[in-house]
Amino acid sequence: MAEITANEEKILAKLGDVPEITYVKEARVACNGGDGPLGHPKVYYSLNDEGYAECGYCDRVFIYAPEKAAS
Ligand SMILES: [Zn+2]
Repeated sequence: MAEITANEEKILAKLGDVPEITYVKEARVACNGGDGPLGHPKVYYSLNDEGYAECGYCDRVFIYAPEKAAS
């Protein structure tokens, strides 16, 4: 089920080490880093043309993948 899509592979190859990936089904995402040491003020990002956004605070990456996104 956790299949890596071609686009995802391309994104990950470009970004290198990513602490955490969140799959989303909308073009706008919010990140607060979650609980714990990576927590930070809530910020919003729009996915770029390649279908992802990288959080400037916690380096978490959001990838557009509606089939994998938690509902
Ligand atoms: Zn974040």
